[in-house]
Amino acid sequence: MTPPKELLVSAIKDGTVIDHIAAGQALAIIRILGLSDYQKVVTVGLCLPSHAMGKKDLLKIEGRELNAAEANEVALFAPQATVNIIRNYKITKKFAVKLPELVESFIVCPNRACITNHESITTVFYIIPGKSARVRCQYCEKIFALEEIKEYNL
Ligand code: ZN
Repeated sequence: MTPPKELLVSAIKDGTVIDHIAAGQALAIIRILGLSDYQKVVTVGLCLPSHAMGKKDLLKIEGRELNAAEANEVALFAPQATVNIIRNYKITKKFAVKLPELVESFIVCPNRACITNHESITTVFYIIPGKSARVRCQYCEKIFALEEIKEYNL
């Protein structure tokens, strides 16, 4: 017998639930949101069954409400994700993440020769939408798949 859905991951009182993360992407999101040393409860569901997606990941972050900029960053890795803001155990806001046109400062250019790695310049990356998003550096104009990006400014 399969348990009811609600029991798979425990409820949170106040915070954010990021649902419909493509399976395998939750850990990347933990990293970009800087949650690995977060001092409150983060519940991670990996490879949960999903009607719409087959399998999905899910994150519950106690005590933190995701802002729009952070939701954009999540969209890079999980363009289908939905963000639920929880207050006193109730969903008070629910929205789909949206791929931004560009991200500033967040991505460290993987091109070692890029000027942004040698001078204090804020990086700007344009998002190239697609099945898995790619990004283009404004300065060296190189295009990278997200998996090629190893460093982020958090
Ligand atoms: Zn560059």
